[in-house]
Amino acid sequence: MIKLKNSLQLAAMQDSCKLTVEALYEGASLIAPGVEIGEIDQRIRQYIEKHKGTPSFLGYAGFPKSSCISVNDVVIHGIPGHQVLEEGDIVSIDVGAFYKGFHGDCARTFPCGTISLEAKRLIEVTEASFYAGLAEVKPCNRVGDISAAVQRTAEAAGFSVVREYIGHGVGENLHEAPDIPNFGVAGKGPRLYAGMTIAIEPMINYGQKEVRQLSDGWTVVTLDGSLSAHYENTVAVTSDGAKILTEL
Ligand code: MG
Repeated sequence: MIKLKNSLQLAAMQDSCKLTVEALYEGASLIAPGVEIGEIDQRIRQYIEKHKGTPSFLGYAGFPKSSCISVNDVVIHGIPGHQVLEEGDIVSIDVGAFYKGFHGDCARTFPCGTISLEAKRLIEVTEASFYAGLAEVKPCNRVGDISAAVQRTAEAAGFSVVREYIGHGVGENLHEAPDIPNFGVAGKGPRLYAGMTIAIEPMINYGQKEVRQLSDGWTVVTLDGSLSAHYENTVAVTSDGAKILTEL
């Protein structure tokens, strides 16, 4: 069931989303060669808890950390541990925070030091594919309009779209209806209504679209070892379009 939020609920959700994106950038401020990604996760957890929130991912289906940190060919769900960042890495940070009864969810991919032109372009196109999807968010459009716009933008640049992991409704629960795939057909899928809150989150691979999960049960990597980038915001459907809730 798709839950619509009233203005009071949206105001609370704006607060949870603000905390979420602030925590993400607090963690990202540590990115540098020589830093353990587990330190970034700790900083994110501390920031959320200091502001009376709860990390949404900690303990979710048994996930052991407060954020997902996914480096280079890791697509999503990287578990932040003792891995040390190196110059030229690309670092995806995905954060969720629960506050005032609602979850926020967002992700960005950052450069560590100087990165290749290819990596830079992948990050830029991934962000652009999010915004192409966002432009389709308006009442009476359909989820497929978002999906098709994301896919078109990524594939036009020569990159590929991950199929196994997708965006989702978000609110009182971290993952709610409807599914928001990053591929699909315009004009298909559930209709969008004002008051819906959704996480649009393109995961774009430099090479082929296929992925595999590592034996830790979480970490998802590209099958061909190519780089992958992630860009996500929690977005509210409004009467005149879209509002990004996880924006600084
Ligand atoms: Mg998400």
